This record gives sequence, structure tokens and C-alpha cells, in this order.
Amino acid sequence: MATVVAAHRDELVDLDRMIGDGDHGENLKRGFDAVVSALDSSEVDTPANVLKLVAKTLISKVGGASGPLLGTAFLRAASGLDEVDGASVAAALRAALDGVVARGKAEVGDKTMVDALQPAVEAAEAVKDKSVAEVLAAAAAAAETGAESTIPLVARKGRASYLGERSAGHLDPGARSTSLLLRSLADSAAA
Ligand code: ADP
Ligand code: MG
Ligand code: MG
Repeated sequence: MATVVAAHRDELVDLDRMIGDGDHGENLKRGFDAVVSALDSSEVDTPANVLKLVAKTLISKVGGASGPLLGTAFLRAASGLDEVDGASVAAALRAALDGVVARGKAEVGDKTMVDALQPAVEAAEAVKDKSVAEVLAAAAAAAETGAESTIPLVARKGRASYLGERSAGHLDPGARSTSLLLRSLADSAAA
């Protein structure tokens, strides 16, 4: 995830410049760089503890709206992920979405990361009896379609909502980054 975020930093900055304040790529890069350092310097033993450390680091290092939202997503994903199989990964994604919605109150159609994450969860659940790689591949594909669906939307949550109708015609940066993060997970699981 950190590698993908670094590779797409400028793209995410440019997207956020169109409908926000132009910091999304830098926010995420700072956060995921800190995650790599934190993982390098600690002895996390279980998948749940890795996710908890990621959550804590993102919450403290990523400024802006996306930090607490993504941090909550990783924190909620951690609970219950003792064993990593298709069903538990689908459940972790569902828990992540529930956390994002509890915190940010966005629904599909509001032009946020939820437009990528919710269809990803639904696609993951539909194939949860398959392998982790298949579950994540389904989630990533649905997140990509969901992110693209934000282009015509008028933002109703977050900074982009201040633009009103002028937010239409642009890809939401948080939906784009969510699709990138899920794609990187799917690629890792397939490798
Ligand atoms: P900020 O807007 O504070 O500068 P970022 O640029 O890092 O923070 O993140 C912006 C992204 O956060 C948006 O593109 C959107 O996807 C997401 N976002 C903002 N508010 C919400 C919300 N209430 N619920 C879900 N996602 C949100
Ligand atoms: Mg921003
Ligand atoms: Mg900001």
C-alpha cells in the first residue's frame, strides 16, 4: 500500500486540487511512510495487531478528513481478523466500511471514499467462500468502478461539498485512493 500510495502521490494531489485543498496525496504518503517505519520498528505478531498499528499510525500522521476515516477503517478491520480466509477478509472489509460510515456519515452517491468502499464490500461478500485473492480481486474491481462513478456526482460530504455543483465532473480523490489501496491488497494476495 505504501508503495502504491507513493507512486500515485501526485495524481491524488492533482485530483484533490480540483475539488479540495490539494493535499490528499501528500496526506496519504506521509501516513503510509510512517506506517512502514512503525512496522519496521515494532514486533507485531498477528494480522489484527498489524492492522491496529496501521490504524494508530494513520490516525496520528494523516491530517485532514481522510486520516481519522482510514484509521477507523483499519481499526475496525482488525477486530475479528485472527484467521485470514476469504470470509474473514470480507467481514473485515464490511467492518471497515461500517466504521467509515459511523464516523463520516456518508452514503453512496455523496462522492466520497464510500462510493468505492461500499461496492467493494458487497462484491467481496458475494464471493466470500472463495480464496483471499479472489475476494480481494472482486473488491478491487468493484472499488475501481465505484470510484469512476463519482465523476458526475455533486459532493455532499467533506471539503468538496463546499464547491456545490462545481464539484461535478471530477473523480473524488478519496474514492480513487481507496480503489488503489484495495488493488494493492489484491495484487499482494495474488502474488
Ligand atoms: P481534507 O479534505 O481534509 O483535505 P483529504 O484531502 O486527505 O482530507 O481527504 C479527502 C477525501 O476524504 C475526500 O476525497 C473523500 O473521499 C473523503 N471524505 C471526506 N469527508 C468524508 C466523509 N464524511 N465520509 C467519507 N469520506 C469522506
Ligand atoms: Mg484534501
Ligand atoms: Mg486538507
